[in-house]
Amino acid sequence: MKKILVTGGLGYIGSHTVVELQNSGFEVIIIDNLSNSSLNVLEGITSITKKPPVFERLDLRIKADVIDFFQRHENIAGVIHFAASKAVGESVAQPLYYYENNISTLIYLLQECKAHSINNFIFSSSCTVYGEPDSLPITEEAPVKKATSPYGNTKQISEEILEDTCSVHPQFRCIALRYFNPIGAHDSAMIGELPVGVPQNLVPFITQTAAGVRKELAIFGNDYNTSDGSCIRDYIHVVDLAKAHVVALERLLKKANASNFEIFNVGTGKGTSVLEIVEAFEAVSELKLPYRIVERRPGDVVSVYADTTKANEILEWKAERSLKDALSSAWKWEQHIRNL
Ligand code: NAD
Ligand code: UDP
Repeated sequence: MKKILVTGGLGYIGSHTVVELQNSGFEVIIIDNLSNSSLNVLEGITSITKKPPVFERLDLRIKADVIDFFQRHENIAGVIHFAASKAVGESVAQPLYYYENNISTLIYLLQECKAHSINNFIFSSSCTVYGEPDSLPITEEAPVKKATSPYGNTKQISEEILEDTCSVHPQFRCIALRYFNPIGAHDSAMIGELPVGVPQNLVPFITQTAAGVRKELAIFGNDYNTSDGSCIRDYIHVVDLAKAHVVALERLLKKANASNFEIFNVGTGKGTSVLEIVEAFEAVSELKLPYRIVERRPGDVVSVYADTTKANEILEWKAERSLKDALSSAWKWEQHIRNL
């Protein structure tokens, strides 16, 4: 059994990936500082897989602790690095916190990978690196645009750090996955997204509104140049996204990579508007969702969705779950955590 370190493994995408890794026969060690997660997630994972992953509560900003961790854990075959802070608005208010938490942690991890000859690394990047696309669907060759937030900038800088590292260490292999919009939860409703405070993302805001926690959804603009005037995104089921990590990791472990720094879009290839999401949610939940159109949200791109050809052909991975599956799993999860 290959041992894989998953940083941020108690977070939203990390926890779903841990489940898929364990189900694919990997032994998982999780590092998380619980800054945006809780120990209940560990129970949720274990209730699905029946195998408790090893967990260490550790803050990756503390370099001495990272060094110590790698001294205590031998034979790590690969690292999947999710741990980061991800709230765009918060990153504007606290740039230094974001640069430290998202960049220094990556550097410390890479230093220890080098010291211990751990040569397989998967990084969580984001379609935010593309900014407002010049053409759609967007391919991995599209230019990276100047970031509109410190959070977005941390993803661009991280990709550069990885590329530079790969260029001088040919034995080190990295895949950066550029996620589009992950939504939904595990079918079991044992793990899912747990936003702290008022959700900034669309789908958790919708499910909380349907659960009566929020009064109404504010839709940020219906005067964009799109079919119905609302913004378009590529919403991907989190379980499909999690599976992409397993496939990418296996590619690295088999040394099947074409170059030692590869980038893949991970989306469905389909664009859906905010109003279409509301309509689809109403259909799966059989509820009427209270909503109101408000001003545009500063910094929103109008429309972005992935060209997934590269992942489909090279990783032989494809998103399999529908938008309906994703929204019904998100709603099931919300009902589970609210005891509805
Ligand atoms: P999340 O906040 O649910 O998970 C991140 C986890 O990392 C949390 O459990 C948190 O406690 C942990 N963490 C944060 N800083 C840490 C530190 N210094 N040391 C140890 N643990 C730490 O976020 P997520 O949605 O699961 O996102 C995972 C990754 O994917 C992040 O890198 C994020 O930027 C990226 N990403 C997310 C999205 C999205 O929409 N969710 C989109 C694109 C990219
Ligand atoms: N959105 C919205 N109301 C909300 C949250 C989001 O109308 O309360 C819209 C937002 O303007 C964007 C889409 O939903 O067009 C997806 O936003 P989210 O924050 O989930 O993801 P982003 O693509 O911005 O990272």
